[in-house]
Amino acid sequence: MRVRPPARAPDQRGTVNHSTTEEPADTVARLRATFRSGRTQPLSWRTGQLGRLRELLTAHGEELATALHEDLGKSSAEAFRTEIDFTVREIDHTLEHLDGWLRPEPAPVPAHLGTDATAWTRYDPLGVVLVIAPWNYPVQLLLTPLLGALAAGNAVVAKPSELAPATSAALARLLPRYLDTDAVAVVEGAVPETTALLAERFDQIFYTGNGTVGRIVMRAAAEHLTPVALELGGKSPAFVDLGTDLAVVADRLVRGKFLNAGQTCVAPDYVLTDPETARALEPKLVEAVAALFGPEPRESAAFGRIVNERHFDRLAGLLGSGRTVTGGDSDRAAKYIAPTVLADVDPKSPVMGEEIFGPILPVVTVTDLDEAIGFINDRDKPLALYVFTESDTTRDRIAAETSSGGLGFGLPLAHLTVSDLPFGGVGESGMGSYHGRYSIETFSHRKAVLEKPLA
Ligand code: NAD
Repeated sequence: MRVRPPARAPDQRGTVNHSTTEEPADTVARLRATFRSGRTQPLSWRTGQLGRLRELLTAHGEELATALHEDLGKSSAEAFRTEIDFTVREIDHTLEHLDGWLRPEPAPVPAHLGTDATAWTRYDPLGVVLVIAPWNYPVQLLLTPLLGALAAGNAVVAKPSELAPATSAALARLLPRYLDTDAVAVVEGAVPETTALLAERFDQIFYTGNGTVGRIVMRAAAEHLTPVALELGGKSPAFVDLGTDLAVVADRLVRGKFLNAGQTCVAPDYVLTDPETARALEPKLVEAVAALFGPEPRESAAFGRIVNERHFDRLAGLLGSGRTVTGGDSDRAAKYIAPTVLADVDPKSPVMGEEIFGPILPVVTVTDLDEAIGFINDRDKPLALYVFTESDTTRDRIAAETSSGGLGFGLPLAHLTVSDLPFGGVGESGMGSYHGRYSIETFSHRKAVLEKPLA
């Protein structure tokens, strides 16, 4: 199937902008030939590619920040902190440790093989990897898997999100200027182009986005028995225990929730707490929003916009799901939804029915810790779970009695900035993980090797 110029007008799913007219089959064949030639194997090639990616980010950071502002209204400071510098840090961490991570690991040999036998595991690259990225952190979420796949010695087809068209175009323009184009291809496009790519045989597919498309990806991968990593989302709860410092809690909740206008996969989706704490937390949340964004958040450069009208309409429909404590106003033309806190929220209301993925924070009440744990476990396993407590018992019980991709005590979002922690989901929030050495695990095959001398 040929990747053709757009046959339809740009729609709400974004403009289609092709960076290549090459057939997907030809792209994969070309990259596979490079991989088979052995070019991507040496450590020097891998570190060279990472170094070039670092140069790209350093030389063109402003250009990428401008594109991110165009797509998502991100401030330059936020673009650097959460996307560009984030990726540079991940590159630096990988460059520092890659040699050690790739070292073969010896394994003890059982007595029946004799004392001269040795065994070890080695990390083999998988081959040609497909990375499909979403729109919400369109630089970080394309480049971090890409650099992990390159560090593991693979060739990569990178598919940016069409819903962040300015960033997609910038990456499609810049990546070929810096990386080995025989081993890295950028394919822009929307559903038809991604569908065409998914028909090809890859050696690994790394998808970040929603669970509906995650299922499509997994079905396509099953045809070729291709392994997948699915980095999905869901509702990440924030449990607030009795007796915590609510000014600190509110400040951290608000910073985590309203970053990127709430369009963050690990944003605290809703607050879960007892009625007394909920009442005391309300004014603190109002103060924290005002402290961060001023009296009129719409005028704050630090507060972003909703990606498109479709998501705006979806979010506007959730605003009536409870009593508005702060915010609640919106402007479709500007794709602006105020940072909003909703109280007295019924767990059966629309805002609790789906991942919010926008600047709306509902507060839901439970009677005690037992009910909170039950509430969490009755729902899909979250990508992240946050807990604000001074109690060791609460900490231990939540850690032991719930399942989530990550668990954050006292600070939302921050766990994903620790390169030595695996980042990924469980159950409905995904499968597989990456960052740091976990990217090497994900993008490699751990090959078992045994040697018995002939004499
Ligand atoms: P999106 O719409 O940009 O889709 C992601 C990718 O899937 C895009 O590249 C898109 O082209 C492709 N795609 C869309 N429809 C497709 C189809 N029918 N067939 C093949 N490919 C298709 O992004 P999104 O899904 O709206 O992203 C938001 C979701 O992603 C949220 O649920 C969020 O929680 C989750 N997310 C997860 C992480 C994580 O690291 N776990 C990070 C960011 C976002």
